[in-house]
Amino acid sequence: MGHTSTWALLSNGTRHTVILDPTGQLHPEANQFFLGMALAGRAFNTTSVYGRAVARLLDWCEREGVDWRQVSLANLGRFRRDFELAPRAHTGRPPSPSLVSQTMAGVTSFLRFCAAERLIGSWVAEPLVEPRMIGTALDRTDPTANIPARRIRVHVPETPLVFPPPEKMDLLLEIKQKPRQKFLCHLLWCTAMRIGEALSAWREDVHTLPNNTHLGCPVPGAHIHVGRRYDQQRNRAKTGPRVLPLDRPTIAAYDAYLDWRAEHGLDGKYLLVVSQGETANQPLTYATVLESFQKTIAKKIDYPLTPHMLRHARATWWVRHDVDIDVVRELLGHANIETTRRYLHSGVEDLRAAVEDAA
Ligand SMILES: [Zn+2]
Repeated sequence: MGHTSTWALLSNGTRHTVILDPTGQLHPEANQFFLGMALAGRAFNTTSVYGRAVARLLDWCEREGVDWRQVSLANLGRFRRDFELAPRAHTGRPPSPSLVSQTMAGVTSFLRFCAAERLIGSWVAEPLVEPRMIGTALDRTDPTANIPARRIRVHVPETPLVFPPPEKMDLLLEIKQKPRQKFLCHLLWCTAMRIGEALSAWREDVHTLPNNTHLGCPVPGAHIHVGRRYDQQRNRAKTGPRVLPLDRPTIAAYDAYLDWRAEHGLDGKYLLVVSQGETANQPLTYATVLESFQKTIAKKIDYPLTPHMLRHARATWWVRHDVDIDVVRELLGHANIETTRRYLHSGVEDLRAAVEDAA
């Protein structure tokens, strides 16, 4: 077992590349490097390619008895040649020229970062300033293949709130989508619930009738009970369960989704279930949802939306439409009002920006 490139989930719902050493510990320098890339706004697709590149370099150095902190240009030349000649495990063929150049780009970038951060001597990275010496032509052929499905938990700093433009939200609700995805988008937008709360909800948590007393629920009108199972599963204190109203478009999307479930013979107790294969009727996973956001929704609305951004977007929308901050707090299920106040400030800043643009 060598180094593994995998990813962790940031609290804003985005994926973050990390490298684990052979004992399963985070590789500290690599972790700093990928945090730096994330803060610089580099796409996950790029960082995951770089992650595999760095893991390869670290493995190679261990095999060759080379300290990676003191790797020389000659070492890198050998690393490149060894990589070019080695058949790939899944194809039996050597790597494509573009994979080789992406790998070298990742390795070079990593070493330069480490030198700039004084994690290694600057003399290691100086020769790399001339990238042609080891070839770094980065092309855009599919860097997304083989993203490991494994998730681990790490503590990483919360990235700043991201607010998608309101017109993207309008577009999101209009685009053609499969019933399950359409319902999920409406649900997240309507309620601003956490994606984890949506994925752990049961079908019986949704009540859609004007009067739900026959179900043992005193709350009138369409709503969803949120958070009870999520809190149990995560075993952490949020604000406890809450009831969130559902609007008409969400109920319409829900009805269409239930029809679709019936057509597929899906009777799982979870609200959002896998539709086919061995895991049919099992709860939908976060990885699947994120993938559909990245592969279909992001393209259709031309914006890199994540499920968590819908929560931010909705909270901002409420604040701008003069919903009382205490109500917003209750809807979002924030334990601390200060967490909710972030949306107030962001609203003001956006308004100021709009005014300045207009001036
Ligand atoms: Zn109810």
